[in-house]
Amino acid sequence: MILVTGGAGYIGSHINKELNKQGYETVVIDNLSYGHEDFVKWGALERVDLSNSREIRKVFQNYPIDAVMHFAAFTYVGESVEDPQKYYLNNLRNTLNLLEVMLEFEVKKLVFSSTCATYGDPLEIPITEDHPQNPISPYGRGKFMVEQVLRDYSQAYGLKYASLRYFNAAGADPDGELGESHQPETHLIPLILDAALGRREDIKIFGTDYPTPDGTCIRDYIHVTDLADAHIKALEYLENSGKSEVFNLGNGNGFSVREVIEEARKVTGRKITAVETDRRPGDPPILIGSSKKAREILKWEPKFDDLSQIISTAWEWHKNLKKYE
Ligand code: UDP
Repeated sequence: MILVTGGAGYIGSHINKELNKQGYETVVIDNLSYGHEDFVKWGALERVDLSNSREIRKVFQNYPIDAVMHFAAFTYVGESVEDPQKYYLNNLRNTLNLLEVMLEFEVKKLVFSSTCATYGDPLEIPITEDHPQNPISPYGRGKFMVEQVLRDYSQAYGLKYASLRYFNAAGADPDGELGESHQPETHLIPLILDAALGRREDIKIFGTDYPTPDGTCIRDYIHVTDLADAHIKALEYLENSGKSEVFNLGNGNGFSVREVIEEARKVTGRKITAVETDRRPGDPPILIGSSKKAREILKWEPKFDDLSQIISTAWEWHKNLKKYE
């Protein structure tokens, strides 16, 4: 049985679904602070906060857990600058709590949700796994610290882990059962779709003077279902006695903010008003990942790798999204 922490959140819920589809049994733990209870349609759900080791222990006593996928974390970069303690306690300390119980119960396989934010400002593009890690926010630093902890634990205690550094997770479950709904929403694609639906007046373009062809930031958008697939491949890799590894997960293609807005106009057929504004602090001009290593070692192949598919799956879900507003 696989323990999925944060399995009621955007990425965790898609992976929980995929695990169950592929025949794994799962138990989700989530404190439901940001997650949605009805995203956990598969497997068991335990409402547990990772700050509480006793509750984590109970879950390990009650379910025959073989491996853990760890998604539970706060994810707002800007908020992490304003309130770093909130991030270090949840994303770092609570991960230490989880690891402590895993070791107690001799559960030694972990797939960890890391991020390209651990690299900081890129020195070269595309970013490979051996690019220096100089995170520039408490969010990125917390994830980076966990990666370091995992390396030490793997050497000392035989923990086997895969740290997956995602680029920009986007899109929604193609069956329309799950999607992206953050509160507050800060991500580009859901905000564009809100503008398409008239739920907001316009989409703000944060900065038009970047050193990119059209002056707006370029990102590597990766479909959440492709992320799910990579997680399962990483788990199988660990089960087949692979050694601990880190993998980038991106498409290797970059799209500018303007290109994403233009594609959303095509997909939705709606008018989307874009308003040019100042840069958002902390945004590097270009983030594109090389996922060569995941393709080679995990035999992972993204299937929803064009922007139109990413936006159209998000659109199908977003249109019907009422209850999370
Ligand atoms: N962005 C934007 N307007 C918005 C939200 C985001 O122009 O209302 C830009 C942002 O500056 C970045 C890109 O869109 O260059 C993707 O931002 P998002 O917050 O979705 O993901 P991030 O790259 O921060 O993880």
